[in-house]
Amino acid sequence: MTPILELRNVSAGYGPFHALFDVCLSVQPGEAVALLGANGVGKTTLARAATGLIVPTEGSVWVDGVDMTGVAPFRFARAGVAHAPEGRSVFATLTVEENLRLSFRQSKGRRGVGAALDQAFSQFPLLARRRPMLAGNLSGGEQRMLSMARVLVEAPRLLVADELSLGLAPIIVDEIYHDLARLRSEGTALLIVEQRISHALALCDRVVLLEHGTVIWEGPTDGAEARVVAKIFDHSAGEEPPC
Ligand code: ATP
Repeated sequence: MTPILELRNVSAGYGPFHALFDVCLSVQPGEAVALLGANGVGKTTLARAATGLIVPTEGSVWVDGVDMTGVAPFRFARAGVAHAPEGRSVFATLTVEENLRLSFRQSKGRRGVGAALDQAFSQFPLLARRRPMLAGNLSGGEQRMLSMARVLVEAPRLLVADELSLGLAPIIVDEIYHDLARLRSEGTALLIVEQRISHALALCDRVVLLEHGTVIWEGPTDGAEARVVAKIFDHSAGEEPPC
């Protein structure tokens, strides 16, 4: 099967700083992959490279068998690859509606904005009630919901989600994971970056572990928790990288 997403020997970084080294990773249609690792190992950088937000210095990024290396992020969105970035990632000084309009204009094009807005407000009624409020005045959970509404209005084919649970109350995290499980059951593939290991493992089929910008292990999530925890907290467990 052609993977929906494939990173082939990707290296990437920020100016002279190298954060990813020769990373290979693929996600099959409908598959859910957890991308785990300690702080600063390159998970967010990988999520950005996978959605066009940073361009690899070496290697290539493929979507549905098409080389998308260097292609603008909105083209990834239009190919069905959505990115829910780390943090709240909303424009604090714009209203809820303005945030959504701005995002839909990019992902759906000018003509798609009206329908996407209607869909967002019916899917997330709380956001409809907060429509004229400045996003910066929303609670943390509401800001996260606004951030997710921008990408979940139309189920993407692949959602790359970066630490959706960051800084949120456990009950909101459970709601978010409930939404992710629903998306999965509807056929959306997932690449989940997450610090809450047990949540990610419960949702996903496969886990990819990063350390110092390289993949050090990958395998099925079944029975992997102890191993994953050991690898994240004890960097001495050294196996050959898979590519
Ligand atoms: P965390 O779990 O703490 O969010 P991470 O695994 O997602 O970490 P990245 O955010 O990808 O890690 O960062 C990888 C490395 O790249 C880190 O050393 C970080 O300091 C560096 N880095 C990240 N963003 C930038 C940036 N905009 N400019 C320069 N260096 C950066």
